[in-house]
Amino acid sequence: MKFGGTSVADLERIRRVARLVAAEVETGKRVAVVVSAMAGKTNELVAWTDGCGPAAQGLPPSDDEYDAIVASGEQVTAGLLAMTLRNMGLNARSWMGWQVPIITDDAHGRARIDEIPPEKLVAAMDRGEIAVIAGFQGVDREGRIATLGRGGSDTSAVAIAAAVGAACCDIYTDVDGVYTTDPRIEAKAKKLARISYEEMLEMASLGAKVLQTRSVELAMAQRVPVRVLSSFVEPGEAPGQGTIVCDEEEIVEKRIVSGVAYSRDEAKISLLGLPDHPGVSSTIFGRLADANVNVDMIVQSRARDTNHANMEFTVGKRDAARAVKIVEDAQAEIGFESVAVNEDVAKVSVIGVGMRSHAGVAKTMFTALAEKGVNIQVISTSEIKISVLIDAAYTELAVRALHAAYGLDQL
Ligand code: ASP
Ligand code: MG
Repeated sequence: MKFGGTSVADLERIRRVARLVAAEVETGKRVAVVVSAMAGKTNELVAWTDGCGPAAQGLPPSDDEYDAIVASGEQVTAGLLAMTLRNMGLNARSWMGWQVPIITDDAHGRARIDEIPPEKLVAAMDRGEIAVIAGFQGVDREGRIATLGRGGSDTSAVAIAAAVGAACCDIYTDVDGVYTTDPRIEAKAKKLARISYEEMLEMASLGAKVLQTRSVELAMAQRVPVRVLSSFVEPGEAPGQGTIVCDEEEIVEKRIVSGVAYSRDEAKISLLGLPDHPGVSSTIFGRLADANVNVDMIVQSRARDTNHANMEFTVGKRDAARAVKIVEDAQAEIGFESVAVNEDVAKVSVIGVGMRSHAGVAKTMFTALAEKGVNIQVISTSEIKISVLIDAAYTELAVRALHAAYGLDQL
């Protein structure tokens, strides 16, 4: 069982979580619980690290100390939940990442889990102890605390489930499942009973915030059955069925499109008048990669005079200024005319495994957007998703139009 920040936001909610855990234990299951920090806590801790002032010139960033600080939120909630369970007469103890141990690499701030030796945890659970584990954190091979990137408790939970061979990984959150789109934008959004790992992975990476992308990758690789469900239930009330994330084969009811996702986190960078010869893209994207800037969508087209090309690509908003600087620094070498950045963009995507075997899915998308007068700036596709970049002002309009166009209103 994993509980997110809003589920453990205060002592009252922690008591509610404790009741859900107790109910699960009563059915005879052995339970490990993974908790996030109280809602808002990690943001506060991150702000403190920023408040320490800019790193002195030339010194390496103190990412290991960043982790020592931001991992503390989960230590508190793990202790509080274990204490609450004990006060209810249950046998429970808290586990920090280093105690399990959850062994990670040393990429501080975005560490990956290397391995979780399950013996100690399993032995405790076999003794009838509820294991309450601090999410988001692990320990690197030097013994230093490492964190798994924002939203990383989901990944902690899936990794623990895989390590102990759990029958299921239940992710409790503030919504009762995975929806066809964001219900705050489209009230007709429907809860999905099941969604495939592949679709969930696209949904997560394309902007749906329910699960951390890496946790879905891991669940898919390790074939961990994941369920997303709400912790916001009254005493005595069952949490409902939620949404099951599983293999495509386990989904009987096939849909062409399962969801519409959106993200306002990207910025578009346009380069005009690039020389049209081999090596230009390699230089630009090589420099960006060296600086760890992730590039998402890319389009290149011939300019009207044959020797030049124009290029547009998107990067995370956080990286936009840095990306422009990198490109500008290479201007003399590459020889383009101008660079511009536009942050008023949104990426809207439709996702569904059914599009592998159906024609006309893109046409439906483009027609629906055209009918609403929404202009498409960049398009990118994969086997199971189509994304378009549009003016951010039309995000809601586009999401609603697409939700209707694929019949998701009617599910
Ligand atoms: N507390 C961490 C965060 O806010 C990890 C998590 O909640 O999953 O990113
Ligand atoms: Mg989360």
